[in-house]
Amino acid sequence: MVAYNIENPAKAKGGVRNYFTLEITTSALCDLNCTYCFEGEKVDKARLDNDLPTIFKRIDSILEDKEWFQAKYDGLNISLWGGEPTLNPKFIIDLMNQYREHDNIDFHLYTNAFNMHNMKKIIDNVDMSKLHVQVSYDGRAVNDNYRLMKNKKASSNQVINNLYELANLGINVSMKATLPIDSMDSLYKCWEDYHDIQKLLWKVSKNININYSPTIDYITKFSLDEKKDAVKVFRSEFLKIAKREIEFYRENGRYLCSWFGGEDNRKHCSAGYNMAAIDQRGNLYACHGAIYSKHKDELAYSDIHDEEFVQKISAYTKKFEEPLKKIHKDCQDCVATTCMICPVASHEKSEKTDFFAKWTDNWVNELCGFFKAFGEIDRAVQKHLFALHAETDEEYRNREMANGM
Ligand code: SF4
Ligand code: SF4
Repeated sequence: MVAYNIENPAKAKGGVRNYFTLEITTSALCDLNCTYCFEGEKVDKARLDNDLPTIFKRIDSILEDKEWFQAKYDGLNISLWGGEPTLNPKFIIDLMNQYREHDNIDFHLYTNAFNMHNMKKIIDNVDMSKLHVQVSYDGRAVNDNYRLMKNKKASSNQVINNLYELANLGINVSMKATLPIDSMDSLYKCWEDYHDIQKLLWKVSKNININYSPTIDYITKFSLDEKKDAVKVFRSEFLKIAKREIEFYRENGRYLCSWFGGEDNRKHCSAGYNMAAIDQRGNLYACHGAIYSKHKDELAYSDIHDEEFVQKISAYTKKFEEPLKKIHKDCQDCVATTCMICPVASHEKSEKTDFFAKWTDNWVNELCGFFKAFGEIDRAVQKHLFALHAETDEEYRNREMANGM
């Protein structure tokens, strides 16, 4: 989910600079065998290694485009996607080194952090200040069931060791978890595991801060009744987490789970508008999710061999601007404070006919129950923390006055 705020682009990238994201698939292969993975069994082994000069040409054309890119964006974020992107380290090294001197390009690596050998090759050969590493790890209770090695054994221990090693190498990572619908009873345990990992990483440096950022699995099919039952479990698990988050916030001035924090998190995904993705064959889509859609062919809108590549991106992204600004009344009035509904999934499931009606048909995913249940808990946490805070301030002032007079 890339949820930049399209109404206020200055908020993108933590309020600092506004970047366009170009995702590039370095290899569709993976070294793990996650059971919920949407990439499927029949992986297309094609790679873009021989097309790197063409990719450079297309990236240059984006950077040079005055009317769209330079007018709207401060820079380009190149996100390395897979499969497992680190299975093609040379591609990553060559690409990053080509743009080593460009201050307006940074890189993002999605990785399962399983293969430290390849990871170190990358670390040793690129400017790591330009690379942000995002590790997929679900929390042991889910990870040990779903994120399996090829031999069907659990991968958690190896990934945690690698996280520790990366921390010791000075690499600050962010983390992302998948939360399967049938694993809601593991939610609190996953939060606790993240808490333990945070404490482990603090032993290396107090400046390493990770978040538990779950994405509810929207690929695996469940019936509406199964989802309704899962919402009940989700609610009771998040109530337990909420108590711990209040303590965590008091101690650290932030939440461990990135979902907490009020309405500002409720941005819908703006894929298509400020991002594009290139698959392992060089075709261009709104985002990596489109690469796995049943409607993949219909969603591809250009490819790296197209001489009008940049004009096509500019025209395609422009089409998303107005439709994405329209927030449906049900969403405006909604209690949810975090909402992460995937437009590609909506587009695939919706029975509507118009493209944007499908793209923004959030409700076909039947996930609102989770976000609404969480919204109620989050609002209660905010009220508790900040109402108490105000009371403490007042008490403090009263004490000061009593002492001073
Ligand atoms: S469209 Fe879906 S897969 Fe693509 S960035 Fe948004 S949430 Fe993620
Ligand atoms: S939970 Fe549903 S209704 Fe609420 S903001 Fe998200 S999509 Fe809209």
